[in-house]
Amino acid sequence: MKTEITKMLGIEHPVIQGGMQWVGTPELAAAVSNAGGLGIVTALISPTPEEALKEINRTKDLTDKPFGVNLTILPTLKPVPYVEYAEAIAQSGVKIVETAGKNPKEVIPVFEKAGIKVIHKCTSVHHAEKAQELGCAAVSIDGFECAGHPGEDDIPGLILLPVAKEKIKIPIIASGGFGNGQGLAAALSLGADAINMGTRFLATKEAPVHENVKKCLVDADEKQTKLIFRSLRNTARIYKNKVAEEVVEMENRNASIDELAPLVSGQRGKKVFETGDLDYGVWTAGMVAGLIHDIPSVKELIERIVADAEDIIKNRLNKIINN
Ligand code: NAD
Repeated sequence: MKTEITKMLGIEHPVIQGGMQWVGTPELAAAVSNAGGLGIVTALISPTPEEALKEINRTKDLTDKPFGVNLTILPTLKPVPYVEYAEAIAQSGVKIVETAGKNPKEVIPVFEKAGIKVIHKCTSVHHAEKAQELGCAAVSIDGFECAGHPGEDDIPGLILLPVAKEKIKIPIIASGGFGNGQGLAAALSLGADAINMGTRFLATKEAPVHENVKKCLVDADEKQTKLIFRSLRNTARIYKNKVAEEVVEMENRNASIDELAPLVSGQRGKKVFETGDLDYGVWTAGMVAGLIHDIPSVKELIERIVADAEDIIKNRLNKIINN
């Protein structure tokens, strides 16, 4: 498959692994890039910009294929020096960055100066238009199905993608709810030039998380996610565990972020991935869990998705119009 995105990023397959806190490590990103997709190292896994730079440089030892770096700008419990992270990313020489969370205008000049192509991931067409105005090379359009932060408009990808396509000139990557060949074929039909996946990559052999998390995604259905932080206008879709239920109950009683912090801290979520104690903290997962039935290697997964999408386009769709 050759699309605007495979050509722009110099990758073989139109499949991107989006930023994932605690999960987007050099090892996972390199596995995705080595399999012909675009792997993305998540900068904020590293506690300082200096360590992020080391991790990005370590990724270069693991793959000679293109890879990117994610910088997500969202409210955090401790302030994050985003511009310093951006400077470290620029210093690494990486050529592709995925921004997300909010308008990336404070970091765009740093990336522009370094000749970096910025893919901005956003959950509304208005924000995609802003990203285009700022000079981003592409946008990832993240539908309501997605894991993590779906925004506050609740528009699913089936509507968001074609509306974005009507208004945006730069290439679009479809994100949120993608995990198989049907999804890739659908995304291409809706006007996208690639898919971005997070949760689906969590259930792969190379994902740096405990086996319990991977098995849990295989067992989960599409109803197994919960929206938290609606009351804070910082909605996050996470796996529906005991902590998620408790957070929503507290929100219904108007709890503040200070009261919620001990439950929702990313440090506790990190422990879930390390120990496999699925109820220890909040951990991010999307509705695509309902489509995850196995734990393949990254290469097996990407090749299967592309082969299935090709089969759908060449055989199923072609037969429908040529019968
Ligand atoms: P954290 O421990 O600082 O916060 C935990 C959660 O609480 C996060 O979802 C955060 O957005 C939210 N939060 C914190 N302060 C808040 C406030 N004042 N108002 C409303 N919500 C608040 O965060 P972390 O888990 O260590 O992650 C670091 C950052 O990376 C976060 O911004 C996280 O959302 C982001 N990130 C998200 C994704 C994703 O959405 N898939 C991917 C990569 C990184």
